[in-house]
Amino acid sequence: MIYKRSSALFAEAEQVIPGGVNSPVRAFKAVGGTPIFVKEAKGAYLYDEDGNQLIDYIASWGPMILGHAHQPVVDAVIDKAKKGTSFGMPTQIETQIAELAVSMVPNIDKIRFVNSGTEACMSAVRLARGYTKKDKIIKFAGCYHGHSDSFLIQAGSGAVTFGTPNSPGVTQGTAKDTLLAKYNDLDNVEALIQANKGEIACIIIEPVAGNMGCIPPKQGFLEGLRSLCDANNILLVFDEVMTGFRLAKGGAQELLGIKADIVCFGKVIGGGLPVGAFAARAEIMNHLAPLGPVYQAGTLSGNPLAMAAGLAMLTELNNGNVFESLAKKTEYLHKGLSEILERLQVTHTINRVGSMISVHFCDDEVVDFETAAKGNNDTFKSFFHGMLNQGIYLAPSAFESWFLNDALTYEDLDKTIAACEAVFS
Ligand SMILES: *Cc1c(COP(=O)(O)O)cnc(C)c1O
Repeated sequence: MIYKRSSALFAEAEQVIPGGVNSPVRAFKAVGGTPIFVKEAKGAYLYDEDGNQLIDYIASWGPMILGHAHQPVVDAVIDKAKKGTSFGMPTQIETQIAELAVSMVPNIDKIRFVNSGTEACMSAVRLARGYTKKDKIIKFAGCYHGHSDSFLIQAGSGAVTFGTPNSPGVTQGTAKDTLLAKYNDLDNVEALIQANKGEIACIIIEPVAGNMGCIPPKQGFLEGLRSLCDANNILLVFDEVMTGFRLAKGGAQELLGIKADIVCFGKVIGGGLPVGAFAARAEIMNHLAPLGPVYQAGTLSGNPLAMAAGLAMLTELNNGNVFESLAKKTEYLHKGLSEILERLQVTHTINRVGSMISVHFCDDEVVDFETAAKGNNDTFKSFFHGMLNQGIYLAPSAFESWFLNDALTYEDLDKTIAACEAVFS
């Protein structure tokens, strides 16, 4: 494949945008080469500026779960745009999407909409602190909760890819309130709680990790966190920015049967427009301004275009059996890939939950950040470029999950499996 025009556009972008991108994971730093500039997309396919067609496995990092330019979402946005794009006043559609979200997700009574997953997680932690009147939080190494200061402590994909787990600009004062635990290690969490007795406001976690590749929670781990939280007056915050409306209608809470106190959303909930949200039972949410003292606001929060896209998306997901269909496709891909990799004796471990899947190029079970980091990055690089040359677009980092979209056909999956075979043959 030829990427002449993408290369030229990237060079031009680099002159006026730091690193040529508006979010670091889009650059090809971890895999080498220059990023591909996309021109348009439809269904499961991306069309780049050089005229190549690519099968898309990142789905805009999750949101495009029904494929690109999905008609009901596009129609809803166009219709809304004609009627004004922002008012800074309440609109009925905000209540409509809130009602639908609350009906789909377990254990939440009220939801507040923001503009990104970062904002959702940042606000959820502020709310947890305001509610419990405690300062410290526990996060897990390799989990990503957006780029706000408190979370940039061993923060998975983007941060890890660039080898700067702790970003300059995050003060010691902020960092000291974030305690770092090991994913899937309950003893470690318990020790942190004991050492900081009465000081921890919340534990924030990706209930299925997706920012160090896909890593499922071990049996009993989330249940254990729930008990520790209950015993110590700590709120359990599920960051479902990736898993929400992807693993099930009710996200990981529903799929795994664990109850969170606060849930964060992003990605799918916006149908491809910039939306985040956080939600909890009324007793907690009523602490937010203007009802309560915890301040949180946004000029463009609940923006009509964003709400229209989100509402159209959630309506589709609520009515169909997308999650089942996606899980089946992902299982098919898993089987196909592991058969090839085994036959060709490529060292690998595949993790999969629902429509999240990742190929780790290492032998051991991948259960946390440490084991994820053991993957062979050189193998990943040749895999990534080998797949790309055959028109398969994977996330340009070994620390990312793949996100399937329901527009993918079994023929697309077969092409992908065949491409994998060609790479390692
Ligand atoms: C993407 C992501 C975020 C951040 O969301 P943005 O919309 O990029 O700010 C937070 N948490 C998780 C689990 C994510 O995957």
